[in-house]
Amino acid sequence: MQGDIQRVLIDRAAIAARLDALADRIVADLAAAEDAGDQPIELTLVPILTGSIIFVSDLIRRMPVKMKIRVMGVTSYPGATTASRGAAVVEALTHVPDDLSGHHVLVVDDILDSGRTLRLVTDTLRQRNPAELRTCVLLRKQIDSAMDFPVDYVAFDIPDQFVVGYGLDYDDYYRNLPEICTLKPEVSRAAP
Ligand code: 5GP
Ligand code: MG
Repeated sequence: MQGDIQRVLIDRAAIAARLDALADRIVADLAAAEDAGDQPIELTLVPILTGSIIFVSDLIRRMPVKMKIRVMGVTSYPGATTASRGAAVVEALTHVPDDLSGHHVLVVDDILDSGRTLRLVTDTLRQRNPAELRTCVLLRKQIDSAMDFPVDYVAFDIPDQFVVGYGLDYDDYYRNLPEICTLKPEVSRAAP
């Protein structure tokens, strides 16, 4: 697996430092919203499967607030491809309540690229009437479709490259790499 890596784009120390700051900001924003509303917030975190699993697990351990976790399955790059094929909700992997009235929802995804995934997710969740709907991504690509998409929290902006690791896959491999990396071109080119 290590031999397939071309370059480490973001290493463990950089991820940890950025997550400390990001979690602090999210928690501070929640506290401010709670003060403004004068009542406890019902926080529901919605991780998008599968890419956000590492990010969300590291992020929530830095957020000492009461929360529920309700996963949502979305498929976007099925199989060995680096080209988006659109996004679809996977109902069997989705456990979000039909009614989100009164819930402060925070969607957490791995990467914002074309924006199809987050648009689908936010459109779907908004129909469930949440009190608040915010979005958080680990990575955002420096391309118009991503930079123009409204998102509340971004850990890192990265160049328009295909990356793996820290939850992100290529053909469902490499999610367990602890750093965010690019693959050697021959690795993704060799795929069917
Ligand atoms: P979007 O729907 O915004 O085009 O892309 C979001 C989804 O596409 C992500 O959740 C992720 O699964 C996949 N994706 C987009 N860019 C990359 C990338 O550079 N690497 C990997 N591994 N997945 C990506
Ligand atoms: Mg993926």
